[in-house]
Amino acid sequence: MHIILMGPPGAGKGTQAEKLAKEFALPHISTGEMFRNAVKEGTEMGKKAKEYMDKGGLVPDEIVVGIVKERLSKPDCTGGVLLDGFPRTLEQAEALDEVFEELKMKIDAAVSVDVEAEELINRLTGRRVCRNCGATYHMKFNPSKVRNICDHCSGELYQRSDDTIDTVKERLIIYNSQTLPIIEYYKRKGLFAGFDGSRPINEVFTDISAYLQKIQEK
Ligand code: ADP
Ligand code: AMP
Repeated sequence: MHIILMGPPGAGKGTQAEKLAKEFALPHISTGEMFRNAVKEGTEMGKKAKEYMDKGGLVPDEIVVGIVKERLSKPDCTGGVLLDGFPRTLEQAEALDEVFEELKMKIDAAVSVDVEAEELINRLTGRRVCRNCGATYHMKFNPSKVRNICDHCSGELYQRSDDTIDTVKERLIIYNSQTLPIIEYYKRKGLFAGFDGSRPINEVFTDISAYLQKIQEK
């Protein structure tokens, strides 16, 4: 199965992707995570991406499409993928169609998780991420067992530099103007499925899993 996971920043894409990837044995490809790793490693691409990420903007399409194409060409993607946070513009969605065609793969579903803006701000400003394995927590809604320590790998939890209130507001503006239009794009292709992401993590997961199960059985 080749699945796209969409939704505004903070809706729970990464949280759900972590669980869905395990359930359906799919590689979890998060462009945000790829950029954060590049920043950590200090690569040229990481330095360039950081300029946009810190302001809450989008990294230019040609950079993002390039890294996704390279990643999708790896052998572990032939059986399926879970794309988290890509595509985020119409240009990226069109480029992804071309890449899929070249690689003889097809998109099975574009799943969106939706949450209202006020709740997104609460989620993002309380988010904590493991410096080592990238697992996501929330200070109130999904805390780690030991404060600031990852349950999975005992890594240190940190607050992303783009999870400040001003950057979050900018990211929500960008989502509404640049990313929302791709919902129509996938609706027209009959691939879109929307889910209410305001409910507890496990309820959202149960609903999306049931939907993907049906897709898999088709
Ligand atoms: P995204 O990848 O869409 O930006 P995340 O998965 O990182 O979002 O989730 C944003 C924050 O909200 C994290 O701190 C996460 O623990 C928390 N979160 C995710 N899903 C839920 C939920 N259903 N209810 C409450 N908090 C959630
Ligand atoms: P995320 O981890 O999905 O919240 O992404 C963090 C940041 O990485 C975003 O705010 C963007 O600056 C950048 N980014 C991630 N994915 C994309 C994408 N598909 N297109 C452009 N920028 C992206």
